[in-house]
Amino acid sequence: MTVQTGRHFLQIPGPTNVPDRVLRAMAAPTIDHRGPEFAALTRRLLDALGPVFGTSGPVVVYPASGTGAWEAALVNTLSPGDRVLCFETGHFASLWRAMAQSLGLDVEFVPGDWRHGASPEAAVERLRADTAHRIKAVCVVHNETSTGVTSRIPEIRAAIDTADHPALLLVDTVSSLGSIEYRHDAWGVDVTVTGSQKGLMLPPGLSFNAVSEKALAAARTSRLPKSFWDWTPIIDANEAGFFPYTPATNLLYGLDEALDMLTDEGLEQVWARHARHAAATRSAVRGWGLDVLCADEREHSGSLTAVLLPEGQDADAVRKVVLERFDMSLGTGLGRLAGKVFRIGHLGHFNDLTLAGTLAGVQMGLELAGVPVGHQGLADALDHLRTT
Ligand SMILES: *Cc1c(COP(=O)(O)O)cnc(C)c1O
Repeated sequence: MTVQTGRHFLQIPGPTNVPDRVLRAMAAPTIDHRGPEFAALTRRLLDALGPVFGTSGPVVVYPASGTGAWEAALVNTLSPGDRVLCFETGHFASLWRAMAQSLGLDVEFVPGDWRHGASPEAAVERLRADTAHRIKAVCVVHNETSTGVTSRIPEIRAAIDTADHPALLLVDTVSSLGSIEYRHDAWGVDVTVTGSQKGLMLPPGLSFNAVSEKALAAARTSRLPKSFWDWTPIIDANEAGFFPYTPATNLLYGLDEALDMLTDEGLEQVWARHARHAAATRSAVRGWGLDVLCADEREHSGSLTAVLLPEGQDADAVRKVVLERFDMSLGTGLGRLAGKVFRIGHLGHFNDLTLAGTLAGVQMGLELAGVPVGHQGLADALDHLRTT
């Protein structure tokens, strides 16, 4: 086995690199989750979480991966046989749809080409056609991590309003919260779903639901079976600073630290930093003569870039050589994109030189794998970083 030296570059779009401060915070001794010190931690965390979601309402924290928070959003608001409107934006949207089906929901799936976000025009059309208001929720993945395409949530909200439709709006922000602009209250979202291991810079293992008044009202009549995911006992216990079960105490220490980091930098700055690194990455891709998968200028992701390889080239061969030679992990192509794209994660704990190192590794990897790209890509990205 080759001995690797220096830092591993974890440039997949989640899990992301966990800052040393966060790792150190998590190494503290586990405390009594029913004691006063823990109650103070919970209160501090819940206060600091609201602004990151852009909400003044409750945020429910689960010891689960993002998938658990998807399920929580559905089972707390819906009843068996309810219709939900989903958009085929990519792999994660397809998985969420499959979950909805397995929970006994009736999914109306708007087909997509995996290069565009959820279509506001299609949303208006489908909701207007639903004169009986059988659609109870619209489910959208904000940032499709499989494609690097960010759906325009305010336009989906406007579509629901234009159609004058009462459906709830449920949004997956697993790979956008804490990296791409997002505003739960201002954008009229009913349930925001996220996870710990992407923009929030934590290890996997926590996930979240931010919940609107309207979603809380829906929860009072929803009939899908739920117990562990039920918001009510959690929100009630949180009042006093506790959870109805043993929480993931040490991950919560890490969350405390990560929220401090986001608050110190300022969310607007966090969003601007990600957008700038994403733009520099796209200039590299153009300089290599390759295509970015996202096909709409308004929908480029701030947290990752999916790079489309020419016909006949194997994206996983590029990833393999980059891992072996430079100890850097890049994201694989998921679902129907397997072998066709690789994904560069540029989110979380990240700066100009991390991006420069990442793109240098990608450029060398492309050449070593026999994709003729030349040197202009990295040069263009460095110019972008120097001049913006
Ligand atoms: C990572 C991701 C998920 C899945 O989260 P897990 O923590 O793996 O369960 C869901 N949606 C999106 C958009 C993601 O990026």
